[in-house]
Formats: sequence, structure tokens, C-alpha cells
Amino acid sequence: MTFYLYENQNPNAPIRSNGLRFWGQPQRRTPAPQIIVVHTAENLPDFTPPDTGAESIARYFATTSRPVSTQSVTDSDSTIRLLPDEAVAYQVRNYNTISWGIEIATQAAKWRDIPAWHREALMRRAAAECARVATRYDIPVTFLTRAQVDAGVRGFTGHTNLDPTRRTDPGFTPAQWQQFLTYVHEAKGAATMPTPPDLTQPGEVFHDAWAWAEQNGIVNEHTDPVDDVQKQEMIAFLHRYHTKVVEPALAAASLGLTLPFDSQITGNVRLTTPLE
Ligand SMILES: [Zn+2]
Repeated sequence: MTFYLYENQNPNAPIRSNGLRFWGQPQRRTPAPQIIVVHTAENLPDFTPPDTGAESIARYFATTSRPVSTQSVTDSDSTIRLLPDEAVAYQVRNYNTISWGIEIATQAAKWRDIPAWHREALMRRAAAECARVATRYDIPVTFLTRAQVDAGVRGFTGHTNLDPTRRTDPGFTPAQWQQFLTYVHEAKGAATMPTPPDLTQPGEVFHDAWAWAEQNGIVNEHTDPVDDVQKQEMIAFLHRYHTKVVEPALAAASLGLTLPFDSQITGNVRLTTPLE
């Protein structure tokens, strides 16, 4: 196995303990990564075959004077391994030593605008490379929040999840995370998918939020609002919605599940008139 950054040493990087010039370190303290971190490289996506995105990103990492690198880069038709899986790449502030990183050769803000065939090809190729690493190190195909990463849980996350004030990549919506992790499952050849929980049953997430709203006179038995909703009620409801619906949706998405409600809600709730 050859690695692009070992074959094409970066003249602007320091010499490392293995005698090669690159941004990174040859070995993690423990060879197995805890997490797989997904990025977009922010190059202009290349829709005209052959896709040269990954090749140009690889050249960038082999020449840049910025201390940045990654283990692998993929585009719609190629996969380039830049550093060994057990090396440390400089790809995510504060988490480099526990992570394995992949750069997808597109822009975080472009997923919705690019042609569907290109989007699927980008995702499937990156998913196949992630599946290889997940299989090698037995990493669960599960989406993780930063809190879960900090708690030592193993799985997948995005650059923005670990560095939210500075980064937006890979720019996946919850539905796109679900799609991506489904592709990882498929690439791993998983025979069966887990059964989704029935969220409408008592004790399950969505049911509890509605029951609470009904008990508090916010909605009637048809889940229609009874009256004007007060600010405290709205805050409590949104909080419950987040902890009982959004977070489980992300967790379920990581298992490739489809939930019986729309989990594609992102961003902030904006009020046109202030609540009293
Ligand atoms: Zn990134």
C-alpha cells in the first residue's frame, strides 16, 4: 500500500519521526481511532467525468504550508489514501489523536444544488472508504454528538459537530446523515437493519411530548393548540422536542432508520411576533 503524502512529500512540512515530510504524525498512541470524522474539502465540485476533485485536493495537501492533512480523500470516481489509517492527520482541532478523517471533494453548502447522480456517487464512494475503516477497527455506524465523542463513545461525526464555531462541513442535514450511514451499512454488506422503535407508544419519545402538552392544556386530544401558547410553554415544548425528537432522530439516522415524522428540521425557530 502506498500513501500519497508519503510518495509526494510536502516541501513545506517538517520531517517526521519516520523520516518523511508531511503534516501529521506517523502513529497514534493507540492505533485504533475512536471516531470517523467526515469533512467536505470545499473545492468546486467537478461534474464532468473524470472528476478531478480528489486529485486536486491531494496535490493541495502535498504542497500547502498550512498544517493540515487527512487520511483519505474521495470524489465521485476516485479514492486516494493520503496517510495510513493509524497515522495522525491534522484535520479536526483538539480531536486529531483519536480520529480518522475523510475529505469529500465538494462544498458543504452545495449538497442540495449538485446533480443527484453526482451527490449519490460522492456519498457512496466516501461511505465505502468509511466502511473499510469501520470494519477494520470495529467502529459502530452511529452518528455521535460532540458530548458523546467527549464521553468516549465510538462512531461517526462531522467536522462541524466537533468545531461548531469555526466549521460547517460536511453540511449534511439529518436526512443526509441518515442516507450516508445507510450507504456505509450497504458498503459493509450488513445483512439486516435494526428495527425502528415505535415512537407513538406510551413511554416512547414523541408520545411523551404530546402527552405532556395535553396534560398542561396546551393542546387538545387532537393535538390542536387550545389557546395562545405562552412563552414558558413554548420553551418547555421546544426543549422536549429537541431532547425527545431531534436527538433521537439523529441517533436513529445513524442506524439508517426512517422515523415516522419529519426529521429534516434544522436551524432555529424564528418568531415573527414575540411571545408574551
Ligand atoms: Zn473539515
